[in-house]
Amino acid sequence: MSAAISELPTAVQPIAAPVADLLPDLIALRRDLHAHPELAYEEKRTAGIVAQSLRLLGLQVHEGIGGTGVVGTLRCGSGPRSVGLRADMDALPMVELGRQAHASRNPGRHHGCGHDGHTSMLIGAARQMARLRDFDGTVHFIFQPAEEGKGGARRMIEDGLFERFPCDSVYALHNWPDLPLGQAQTRPGPIMAAADRFDIAVRGRGGHAAQPQHTPDAILAASQLVTQLNTIVARRIDPGESAVLSVTRIEGGQSHNVLPAEVQITGTVRSFDAASQDRIEAALRAAAAGVALASGTEIEVNYLRYYPATVNTPAEAALAVEAARAVGIAADMAPRPAFTSEDFAFMLQQKPGAYLWLGQGRADPGPDGERALHHPCYDFNDDALPLGVRWFCEVAARALARP
Ligand SMILES: [Zn+2]
Ligand SMILES: [Zn+2]
Repeated sequence: MSAAISELPTAVQPIAAPVADLLPDLIALRRDLHAHPELAYEEKRTAGIVAQSLRLLGLQVHEGIGGTGVVGTLRCGSGPRSVGLRADMDALPMVELGRQAHASRNPGRHHGCGHDGHTSMLIGAARQMARLRDFDGTVHFIFQPAEEGKGGARRMIEDGLFERFPCDSVYALHNWPDLPLGQAQTRPGPIMAAADRFDIAVRGRGGHAAQPQHTPDAILAASQLVTQLNTIVARRIDPGESAVLSVTRIEGGQSHNVLPAEVQITGTVRSFDAASQDRIEAALRAAAAGVALASGTEIEVNYLRYYPATVNTPAEAALAVEAARAVGIAADMAPRPAFTSEDFAFMLQQKPGAYLWLGQGRADPGPDGERALHHPCYDFNDDALPLGVRWFCEVAARALARP
């Protein structure tokens, strides 16, 4: 599959110029990945393409890290420093409704988050750096599986990622439809939230609706608990801090005249620092214990912290912005973090680094507006490819050149 040259972006030519000759291939690759999306830890075809592309460039390539993860290593000069650049490879378990020629050919799978674009940009950066060789040190190109809620970054770390491929710092980007193409943002400190999930079972004994004296009422207890959960952020968290707790599912009962034996409650918590996270979990457990005691029900709480907050280190966030500006991207510091979460957080717990939002909003997005991440008609904007490629290259050169 090859893209017509006439489809190449024109608005960003000045920035694209140094990588313009790579673009037909990168666009074809991006659209091929888009047409063949794979879910978490099943990215075998994608990882195979990545590994083969890197090998053809002469990189040292290691596969099967943390499942389907791939790392390619490129050395130049004798510089002692090393940097990790990360892209994610997985797609989402959802139906794509877009009708472009490269729409998903795998039913129920959709590159609705643009990881096809991230993977293509990082391969583009490897090509550019391998041919120019204008840096001094070691670059590890890290392609991770399972970013969408399945912790592929953590699996790679547990599989020895940073012992086998030592990195002084790590960088990643995510395409950002909310920002116009040609712009980018990051920020020092938290940029994305920690994501927790809670599942609560409220158990009575069940019984006749007209004889409530014979059973603790699980529905009433669950209702009281939902109300109490919604007071936690308002009353227990410093108003200067940001957090959100949402109850997203409540299920129990089947009949108008039966008190159910069990009611289930599910929800999510997002926060930006470990102290708030600890406080919310403790308050949630205390509320559950209190309602259980008062109502006579038994309440079981499962609380899972699946992604920590994504926290940039200040010097690396500054480097990320400077690198973006150096390649012609209008970059600045974002005033606020986003409440979405990101698996790269695990890498930033281990290493200094930064995560960048790369604008991809189209000037003319069509009648329905720019498609949000995870929208069934979302498609990565190929005009962002050269910007990401050049940002990765510039970040690596600057990170390696630091004293
Ligand atoms: Zn996503
Ligand atoms: Zn994503």
